[in-house]
Amino acid sequence: MSVENQPRSVSQTQQYEQCAWRWYLQRVERVQPRPAAWSYHGTAFHSAAEAWERSSRSLGADEVVELFHDEYTSMVNAALDKEPDTDRWLAAGRYSGGEDIERRYHLGMEQTAAYVEWSKATRPALWTEPNEQKPALELSFMVELGGVQVRGFIDQALDEGDDSVRVRDLKTGTMKSKFQLQTYSVAMRKVWGVAVNKADWYLARDGRLSRPLKVGEVSEDEIGQRFADMDAGVKRGDFPANPGFDCNFCDVSHGCIFFSPKT
Ligand code: SF4
Repeated sequence: MSVENQPRSVSQTQQYEQCAWRWYLQRVERVQPRPAAWSYHGTAFHSAAEAWERSSRSLGADEVVELFHDEYTSMVNAALDKEPDTDRWLAAGRYSGGEDIERRYHLGMEQTAAYVEWSKATRPALWTEPNEQKPALELSFMVELGGVQVRGFIDQALDEGDDSVRVRDLKTGTMKSKFQLQTYSVAMRKVWGVAVNKADWYLARDGRLSRPLKVGEVSEDEIGQRFADMDAGVKRGDFPANPGFDCNFCDVSHGCIFFSPKT
């Protein structure tokens, strides 16, 4: 399928809004992105937390941590095979690429153990997805918003006990996206026909939930417009560069003639 006609996602849309040239380099020019340990950290944490929840919280904490360990190590090793020079890896703040790999290995295992303890103590009530009669974990959806096919995966949906559900996203990083929670809330209403009044983030960095975001008033039109604008921009072939702060965190900066890091 050509990029003009592909379904869109929250992350694609945000990336287009932040720097459409980056979107173009990644998806049209197919510039090979540089690896970043934060990405493997996030994926491995999500997998471990999901496995814990899917086991009906019966796995041992050490087994869940081992799942993080195995997935993180495997993904990092595969990326090192492709890019052995860790100085070329992306890293945030004062850490080098190599230091960040090591740091996130330990951090991810600590955060996974802390998630298990938090989940045991608070026992979040997972909503049961009615079609498959399974706990609402990694719920996938495809829905039309603003005339655009939008797809996504919702980390968790919780039963609020009043015929409404709460959307929850698990975060290992610091960048929280309201647009993501708003989109997922609108999608849940549209696909599953349930009321969604609140959404929140589990913040792995702090081992706790964020304050809830009120999403009851968010309209499909408001959310759909952002997808429609992004989709129209791609179809027009409009890919303006937005050099500046994000260049420091851009995984295709090595292929960008506008690269302008902030010092
Ligand atoms: S290096 Fe900067 S301007 Fe170039 S694609 Fe990345 S974010 Fe955009």
